[in-house]
Amino acid sequence: MSGAALRILLLSDVHANLEALDACLAVAPAYDLVVNLGDIVGYGASPNEVTDRSRDLGKVFVRGNHDKAATGLMDLEDFNVMAATAAIWTRNELTPENLDWLRALPHGPVSLPDFPQVQLVHGSPNDEDEYVVSLGDALAPLVTLTVSLTFFGHTHLQGGFFVNGSGADGFRPEYRTVGKAESVAFQLRTSARYLINPGSVGQPRDGDWRAAFALFDTDAQVVHFHRTPYNLKSAQDRMFEAKLPPRLATRLAAGR
Ligand code: ZN
Repeated sequence: MSGAALRILLLSDVHANLEALDACLAVAPAYDLVVNLGDIVGYGASPNEVTDRSRDLGKVFVRGNHDKAATGLMDLEDFNVMAATAAIWTRNELTPENLDWLRALPHGPVSLPDFPQVQLVHGSPNDEDEYVVSLGDALAPLVTLTVSLTFFGHTHLQGGFFVNGSGADGFRPEYRTVGKAESVAFQLRTSARYLINPGSVGQPRDGDWRAAFALFDTDAQVVHFHRTPYNLKSAQDRMFEAKLPPRLATRLAAGR
């Protein structure tokens, strides 16, 4: 890989959860650049605050399906009732300026300036709305990719997949606690290609309720996966007050 050494903060699937975003930013190590992999809004009670904060953090973005749904770029037929209800609530809540900004987010893949071997997508490199959940889902893009590292979101599952000379496999960071802030380092190898998901900041779905994010050190070629507790009760209470589907709030406690 080329370009000056950068420490890149990777945020994905914040889903209008301001409490979770704030907690991630509070524990994040020093970084040079923020990359946002989409689904800034949808589900949570703070679409404007999270959009404002995301815009300020800047610079590199990919749009997510919930960003499209909330801004009318996608019809809601593909959404379940809870997601569609939240998308309509979000659309009514967003300021005209934030609606316009979200609507103009770019379609993935987006390349990373100065790092031609890195690309950013929301779903899969082949289809922005496709879920890469299993090794089987990951294989087709992995074997056809020309770039060595793709960061993706959409599944809300932290970890990823790789292919190298001897095979292919998936991996998940292994944490030692269930309630504290901690991180797990993952060393990239030059001989492999990777699909890596930093996890969901605001709607984790891998059985761990803590907010998830990652930091990529381009010099050391290390991805640091992070989890951090956040003010869950506040996020939930504001979702109840907003009359969002209650299940969207209660499921945050289980990370499912
Ligand atoms: Zn999402």
